[in-house]
Amino acid sequence: MSQAKIIDGNAVAADVRAAVAARVAALKASGAPVPGLAVVLVGEDPASQVYVRNKNKRAAEAGIASFEHHLPADTSEADLLALVERLNLDPAVHGILVQLPLPEQIDAQKVLDSIHPSKDVDGFHPFNVGRLATGGAALVPCTPLGCLLLAKRELGSLAGKRAIVVGRSNIVGKPMAQLLLRESATVTVAHSRTQDLPGECRRADILVAAVGRPEMIRGDWIKPGALVLDVGINRVPAAEPGKTRLVGDVAFAEAVTVAGAITPVPGGIGPMTIAMLLRNVLEACCRIHDLPFEDVL
Ligand code: NDP
Repeated sequence: MSQAKIIDGNAVAADVRAAVAARVAALKASGAPVPGLAVVLVGEDPASQVYVRNKNKRAAEAGIASFEHHLPADTSEADLLALVERLNLDPAVHGILVQLPLPEQIDAQKVLDSIHPSKDVDGFHPFNVGRLATGGAALVPCTPLGCLLLAKRELGSLAGKRAIVVGRSNIVGKPMAQLLLRESATVTVAHSRTQDLPGECRRADILVAAVGRPEMIRGDWIKPGALVLDVGINRVPAAEPGKTRLVGDVAFAEAVTVAGAITPVPGGIGPMTIAMLLRNVLEACCRIHDLPFEDVL
């Protein structure tokens, strides 16, 4: 039985963070502005609080100035829009991230649309979505960008490779498909209405799973030697009563005997997301100040 290479997302993410930190230090040394990230959290969602804490911690480690705005759960949409407008105008802020989900009284899309596209480090603004689709310079969502970096590190050129993206969300599946297409892969996007999903998956040299269903993709759906990138983060009961553990959308124990390389959960795509956020803040800062941006990809 063969054994796939297990991709160490923690190690690659640490490389990306170090590369960003080195460039931020060089910017500072040259007298250029310090990249700044504003993170806005509304309410007390415990998972969001952990994400925001990690983002601020990693930003500080990379030398990026971070500005945290924690607003009460009953914040009105108008007050949040007013804060985003202030951040849009603040010259110390180059990236604005509004942590999702937002409380129900706030229209999340309206808020995302209000972020200036040049500061939209999550890449969710329609301007950046459109730019990605039409091939222009764009800020790109962090999780698919992290997947692309791993794919290029493993395979080099992706041109002509058959890729399948399982999932068509705006934050992962669709931008992932656009990025693979931009690299000249032949891309299939699968979703809950796809017929013969196992058969579609079996044709793919690159399989990206972004579904949110624990271990849905089985080992015998995977083409031998394929690259498998598992975006899914699912909490399931652990063997020990009362405990839980994280699993991906791919049945790892099966897939690891078929794939050529695979990301584990945890420790695969997850750590790449924050690393690519830092990269996006650096890119936004360079573009806003018309400085050269040397990519980490
Ligand atoms: P969404 O719920 O927004 O989208 C899920 C997609 O999966 C939809 O397009 C849906 O299809 C499709 N789907 C659902 N069931 C099936 C099925 N049985 N067969 C085929 N397709 C199916 O999820 P996200 O994209 O936001 O997230 C996906 C996963 O990635 C989650 O586990 C999430 O936690 C994780 N994630 C991880 C990140 C990280 O940093 N590592 C970041 C973001 C997400 P349809 O459109 O037809 O409904």
